Amino acid sequence: MNTHIDSIIETDGALILGAGIAGLFTALKLAPMPSIVLAGTRPGLSGSSAWAQGGIAAAMGEGDSWQSHAQDTIAAGAGLCDPAIVELVAREAPARIEDLIAYGAPFDHKTDGALALGREAAHSLPRIVHVKGDGAGAAISATLAARAAEADCITLLEGFHAIELAMEHGRVSGIFARSGLGPDARLILFRAPAVILATGGLGALYAVTTNPLEARGEGLGMAARAGALIADPEFVQFHPTAISIGRDPAPLATEALRGEGAVLVNGRGERFMTAVHKDAELAPRDIVARAIHRQLVAGEEVFLDCRQAIGAEFPHHFPTVYGACMSAGIDPVRDLIPVAPAAHYHMGGIASDALGRSSLPGLWVVGECASTGLHGANRLASNSLLEGLIFGARAAEDVRGQLAAGAIRGLPPAPQRFASPAPPHILRQTMSRDVALERDAHGLRAALGVVHRLETLTNEPALLNMAAAAKLVTAGALARKESRGGHWRSDYPDKKDPALRTFMTLADAEKIASEISSDKLHAAR
Ligand SMILES: Cc1cc2nc3c(=O)[nH]c(=O)nc-3n(C[C@H](O)[C@H](O)[C@H](O)COP(=O)(O)OP(=O)(O)OC[C@H]3O[C@@H](n4cnc5c(N)ncnc54)[C@H](O)[C@@H]3O)c2cc1C
Repeated sequence: MNTHIDSIIETDGALILGAGIAGLFTALKLAPMPSIVLAGTRPGLSGSSAWAQGGIAAAMGEGDSWQSHAQDTIAAGAGLCDPAIVELVAREAPARIEDLIAYGAPFDHKTDGALALGREAAHSLPRIVHVKGDGAGAAISATLAARAAEADCITLLEGFHAIELAMEHGRVSGIFARSGLGPDARLILFRAPAVILATGGLGALYAVTTNPLEARGEGLGMAARAGALIADPEFVQFHPTAISIGRDPAPLATEALRGEGAVLVNGRGERFMTAVHKDAELAPRDIVARAIHRQLVAGEEVFLDCRQAIGAEFPHHFPTVYGACMSAGIDPVRDLIPVAPAAHYHMGGIASDALGRSSLPGLWVVGECASTGLHGANRLASNSLLEGLIFGARAAEDVRGQLAAGAIRGLPPAPQRFASPAPPHILRQTMSRDVALERDAHGLRAALGVVHRLETLTNEPALLNMAAAAKLVTAGALARKESRGGHWRSDYPDKKDPALRTFMTLADAEKIASEISSDKLHAAR
């Protein structure tokens, strides 16, 4: 426990929390404006970014157009995409890929020198730029980290655990972060006239996830606890084909495998997706994930069969997946890969506008922690790294234009406690059981009860951030009495018109939770 600030680090430029692709790209786009990039883990290896396999979507191929990319995005989003945001993202995508190429990203090219483009589920055309088959995230992250390290104006700091936003005069003025562990832990206040959150998603709040364990919704929770508006929190995407070998997190069998023709079979060797959707294995993610979930619930095992479609090409084309399989004694050239759905991507997040501004003055949000309206109820594959690039560039431009110079006075109140807890097992189990692929009022209410009990047992800010994120997802899911995209209510299986996005604050989520407690109280009387 510590009740005082051990040191203060200030910049005249921007403070960026998160060194995934969104945070690093924003810092590079801000240059020559100074920035501090603060992260839990090493830039270049940090966050979900370094694990991304498929690549980035952009309409750069022959016969492709931004309109087609936009149409596919809107179709996947199941009525909840913001069309203006979708248009600007699809239009600006090729320019951001050119930026990455200029930074040195080693995208795969064809023999004629043109970019090699892959096709993924629910894209009408091949439009995914990739690196060495399934190595896009690692290669792009390493490239951006190298450019950021070379830039004098960018200070990269790793090994910090951010726990709270600092507020001064109604404006976000910095971030409190912990460095070190146990009794040696120190509380540091980072201050800047512009604060940018690039903290990624919340998959690790679930027991079964493809995300690194640092993706636990803390940025979302921090912003929500400071009063920020949150959008579409109930929409969590489950990747259909995490490799089911008992690892936490679960390694991913990229969608591109199905793009190449790999098929899903159950334990009896039956292909079940053909009966579920006209596009079979290439149906939208939520449909494939739910079909697999239902097979598993019915007691079947589910496998990805790559033997015919990919066969001997596997080690060369998909080295990351190949390595993960081989480490568990599965040779995908000859063997079936056991798969199960896992929490993968958060469509919801801190509500942001087309310039990355949140509802809190002084706070911008980019990447997976933001909700721009691009993804709607379901993200189209390979649109997420793209979103980080597009809004990283836009936020950087806005910050540069807006930055008010001048000294920051006074000191914000410091958080009282700061350990570095992992999300409790019970929370992760609860989210995976009650707030996952198929939800109902009974399970969602039970989950809110677990989150509430967790909150009453702690005043640790990091845990409260995770609890806030979990509460928003659950309350949003309870409030949405319909099924749409990634959100499926077994007690409300139909879509309801009109299609409306969710916008709520933590106070709104708390009101929903407290109405449940008072319902229970009435029922008990
Ligand atoms: C296995 C896998 C494969 C994927 N494949 C693709 C793909 O092919 N194409 C695609 O478009 N998307 C893909 N995605 C999704 C995509 O990778 C993410 O949406 C994207 O990388 C998010 O980038 P980001 O920069 O917003 O966050 P991240 O890359 O997750 O970075 C978050 C950063 O915030 C820091 N951070 C978070 N909380 C704190 C804290 N409290 N204190 C200090 N630091 C903190 C972390 O240390 C990290 O530096 C994939 C995701 C996974 C997990």
